[in-house]
Amino acid sequence: ERQEPISVQACIEYALRLFQSRLRDGHVRVEQQWPKETLWAMGDLVRLEQVLVNLIGNALHAMKDTPDPTLTLSAALSGTQVAIHVMDNGPGIDDAHLAQIFEPFFTTKAPGSGLGLGLSISSRIMDDLGGKLQVDNRTSQGACFTIMLPLSPAAP
Ligand code: ADP
Ligand code: MG
Repeated sequence: ERQEPISVQACIEYALRLFQSRLRDGHVRVEQQWPKETLWAMGDLVRLEQVLVNLIGNALHAMKDTPDPTLTLSAALSGTQVAIHVMDNGPGIDDAHLAQIFEPFFTTKAPGSGLGLGLSISSRIMDDLGGKLQVDNRTSQGACFTIMLPLSPAAP
């Protein structure tokens, strides 16, 4: 893995751009919450993109029957790390599945529409980058995935 300072905001915005047409076609509202100052994390840009794309893709899939689909992305300092949240207002994750979703080949999607590898790969990537990937159900509705990534010691 490369270890270089990466702008967390630029990384999220780039991932969002990849979903531009799907977001528009699905009338998905996007809420962004992060500080104006760039959050510099240490990591591998391509790998972080891969994780964000996995999480955003899952969130959009989960909201396909949600009347007012809203994707919320946030980033903030958390001690010596950066915390990135990817939240949706879909049905959330069954309590019975919470412990399994990071396992390879676990999927609740129809055959042919999901291999069940996205989260296991994403969680592995975050471990390799010295961070982690966690999940919670939101109190209201939907899932909240949290990416933790080490801060860069200095801006480039
Ligand atoms: P896949 O997308 O191929 O099913 P993933 O590893 O990305 O594989 O996800 C595994 C499972 O975790 C999904 O099938 C789904 O049951 C659950 N899941 C992931 N993200 C969400 C989400 N945002 N809301 C509800 N369930 C989710
Ligand atoms: Mg997936």
